[in-house]
Amino acid sequence: MRLFDPHIHMTSRTTDDYVAMHAAGVRAVVEPAFWLGQPRTSPDSFHDYFDSLLGWEPFRAAQHGIVHHCTLALNPKEANDPRCAPVLDTLPRYLLKDSVVAVGEIGYDAMTPAEDAALAAQLDLAAQHGLPALVHTPHRDKAAGLARTLDLVRESALPPERVLLDHLNETTVAAAADSGCWLGFSIYPHTKMDERRMVTLLAEYASCQDRILVNSAADWGRSDPLKTRRVGDAMLAAGHHEDEVDQVLWRNPVAFYGLSGRLDLRLPAPDSSHEGNSVLRGGD
Ligand SMILES: [Zn+2]
Repeated sequence: MRLFDPHIHMTSRTTDDYVAMHAAGVRAVVEPAFWLGQPRTSPDSFHDYFDSLLGWEPFRAAQHGIVHHCTLALNPKEANDPRCAPVLDTLPRYLLKDSVVAVGEIGYDAMTPAEDAALAAQLDLAAQHGLPALVHTPHRDKAAGLARTLDLVRESALPPERVLLDHLNETTVAAAADSGCWLGFSIYPHTKMDERRMVTLLAEYASCQDRILVNSAADWGRSDPLKTRRVGDAMLAAGHHEDEVDQVLWRNPVAFYGLSGRLDLRLPAPDSSHEGNSVLRGGD
């Protein structure tokens, strides 16, 4: 089973996770920019992080046979912090980089006016740069959050077929499916969405199977970087054909991020170092 995790925060994961992911079949990931777990204090903190997602993390992933791309943005939570919002002025030059395959994750957290402004501005940045957008839908008040998200998508220059709505569940999937956007589901160990419910939704929304993506998110909260594999296994157990598993867990993410024109699934040379640094220590 070949797996593409289209939304996973490898910055918060260990080397053991990379090893286990490769063993489970993960060969490609996209890492969206998000928060640090603690508040950033200036745009420069974003710049170092963006550089890490563009350089160090792809290098680290390649050591384990996994191709790494990223999406860059001012995340919804920090859009509310006036110390962070000015990163929108420097973001455009990062969006030119080859391994950036979307603007994201953008969207709503607490649905504030500052989040409205950041979301609208970044949907337009995506359109200007020929990139699709990864849009986080809020975990609280989900239905209202999705409705407001779709209003902003409609008002933006970005067509819905270039937007991936993520963190969907049973309360938001119908409206999201009607919108024409791509449908993303984050699978968690104990909360929000699990693989059994995902398989049920795949049956209910079989007509949308060519625009459904499944990810593990794997962020600072309790999470499992092998959730893509667990969904694949659950699909097979429920009677899905291997080709359907491949569509949802490989070809759909390739198609969505391929809209950027920048998705390159060839692994970099394994023995290269990153700016003179190697992860090999002690002669290992
Ligand atoms: Zn995320």
